[in-house]
Amino acid sequence: MHQRLSGLTRPDVGYRNSPHRSGGSPMVPQGIVIHYTAGRYDGAVGWFQNPVSQVSAHFVVARDGRRIQMVPLPDPDTGGPRDGKYKAWHCKGGNSVYFGIEHEYGYSGATGPADWTEEMLDSSAELSAYLCALYDIPIDVPLDPDTRDWYTGFGGHYNVPGNDHTDPGPHFPWDYYINRVEDFSNSLWESPLPVPATTQQVAHRTL
Ligand SMILES: [Zn+2]
Repeated sequence: MHQRLSGLTRPDVGYRNSPHRSGGSPMVPQGIVIHYTAGRYDGAVGWFQNPVSQVSAHFVVARDGRRIQMVPLPDPDTGGPRDGKYKAWHCKGGNSVYFGIEHEYGYSGATGPADWTEEMLDSSAELSAYLCALYDIPIDVPLDPDTRDWYTGFGGHYNVPGNDHTDPGPHFPWDYYINRVEDFSNSLWESPLPVPATTQQVAHRTL
């Protein structure tokens, strides 16, 4: 299924386990949900470990670019326990099909466009590029923020059916983010994909 995995560079990210994750039927990834924490990074990481919270996400990213993985991915060698419990608890009925990335945003009145820092967006985009490569997730944002449907690709918590959250809010810079995911998706591979033989022949003929 993931023939290209051997040439893929895993982003540098540590692991701190959240107990809030489940197995059962296998996760069938079709996209990524962008969230914000409405609290500080350390608080969110602690909250996802707190037995009271009953929530989690696969990754949490800080405003300064720090990041941590808290729920393992279905593929091997991607951090965390290999116990079959790969669904994070971040978007109810969407947990079986969506990875969740939380961003440190929305606290203490920090709710403007500038508070989506480049450090945070780039750190997150690299993780997203890795997920897209592993699971053949399209780098696309098919829905507008007011539409709830089972999208394939990228969306906000506000897009997931059966959820009432409004994150990542009106200021999330989708165009910038998706461009950065595309940039990282090209650089995560150790070497460029081989040029198809037919293209090489055409190139030789034109030389
Ligand atoms: Zn959310």
